[in-house]
Amino acid sequence: MAEKKYKIEHDRENCIACGACAVIAPEFWVLSKEDGKADVVGSTKTDDGYEHLDIEDKDFSTNKDAADACPVNVIHIVDKETKKRII
Ligand code: SF4
Repeated sequence: MAEKKYKIEHDRENCIACGACAVIAPEFWVLSKEDGKADVVGSTKTDDGYEHLDIEDKDFSTNKDAADACPVNVIHIVDKETKKRII
C-alpha cells in the first residue's frame, strides 16, 4: 500500500456549496443531499467542523485542482511530514 503523504483539510462550515470540487474530483468530493455542502469521501470529522482525509501522492494533483478551484479557499492540503499547508 502506498504511503499517504498528504492530508486534505476541509473547512466544511465555510463551504458555500458551489460544487466546483465535486465536478473536478468526484471520487473525493461529493455534495451532501442534506445541506448541499461538499463532503470528503471517507473522511473523519473533528469538533472544529473540519473534515480530514489522508491521501497518496497520486491523488495530490486532482485534489490540488479542486482546492485551486474553490472560490472561498476552504480546501487545504497538508504535507504530513512538514505539517505545513501546501495550499
Ligand atoms: S469548491 Fe469549495 S465552496 Fe465549492 S463546494 Fe467545494 S469546498 Fe465547498
